[in-house]
Amino acid sequence: MKMDSKRSLLKWFSLAGAVVVALLAQGLTGNNLYAYAYNTCNGNPIKWNDGWTNMYLNTTSFTPGSVWDSRVQNAMWHWNNVKGSGFNFYVGRTSGGVSSGNGMNEVYFTWDNLNGALAVTRTRYHCYWFFGWNYGMDEADIAFNLNYSWSPWDYDYSSPGGPPYNFEGVALHELGHAQGFNHEDRWQATMNSIYPNGGPFGHGKEWDPSADDRQAARYFYYDGTTEADIAASAVKYTGSGTSWTVSSPSWAYRGTYVTMEFTFSNLGTSTQNFDIGFYLSNDSYVDTSDTWLGANYGAWASPGSTGTFTRTVYIPGWIAPGTYYLGFILDPYNYNWENNKSNNHQEMPRTITIY
Ligand SMILES: [Zn+2]
Repeated sequence: MKMDSKRSLLKWFSLAGAVVVALLAQGLTGNNLYAYAYNTCNGNPIKWNDGWTNMYLNTTSFTPGSVWDSRVQNAMWHWNNVKGSGFNFYVGRTSGGVSSGNGMNEVYFTWDNLNGALAVTRTRYHCYWFFGWNYGMDEADIAFNLNYSWSPWDYDYSSPGGPPYNFEGVALHELGHAQGFNHEDRWQATMNSIYPNGGPFGHGKEWDPSADDRQAARYFYYDGTTEADIAASAVKYTGSGTSWTVSSPSWAYRGTYVTMEFTFSNLGTSTQNFDIGFYLSNDSYVDTSDTWLGANYGAWASPGSTGTFTRTVYIPGWIAPGTYYLGFILDPYNYNWENNKSNNHQEMPRTITIY
């Protein structure tokens, strides 16, 4: 499912101050030299120059206190919480109509078909020379397409590509556009073009900006704060902005070997060294009290990195037949301090029946 088409409008000011909308202007180029993608003005990233902006939630679409309201605010909070980036979204409300060009960032659901996209972020920015380059974001409106079915609940591994589409995951992606980021399809990222983008993290299926996207936020809105956070995932990159659940067997005989895939990311600002434990659990929460199947010692991840690997483990012959979860835990014995330890536990996206 194609995620969206980000539509960018450039405001070009003549010296007299009249506004002409144009798609291209001197000094404006897409930039792919860094690990993430964004627009530039004479080589400078086009961003919110004050490091913050207000997002006005349409009160018809987002009834205050509704689950949709809490999910979109949660997505905003997750971007605000990226350490190393000082950027902040602030919550506003509007009951008025929506338009691109009114200087207000509106967030709303629409029956417009949006060219078939799940959601669209329309951004406006300026880039012009007047005794020096002037540039910056001016507006970002986010529209979600009501012609698709949306879920405000946790991501469902049984329909990785939707429908329904996970609202908070899509909101997180669109809010990345609203900060100034373009699609990044070369590796797993929140800004991947195709749903479910980078996917959620950990047992709690937390929609947090992926490792690469966090580096983009730090480059744009650097504030010098730091965080340590490795995160587990059951989603893997499958090529050019697409992703899917990791593979693992749905059944096995006890006393045999099985192979599973697993993904981890470094969401933090410094390189992390850690061990990875593999377990068999009789429930969906994998913890160190479950049956230990093996470990990878001395894993290593630099900031911004995400990788998917395979691990073969032996299912002991004494395991009682039944339904279990395979899973893994990053830093299972808590040797490393982290800002977020809850995203270290990850069950496979399906059960395994053992015979
Ligand atoms: Zn997009």
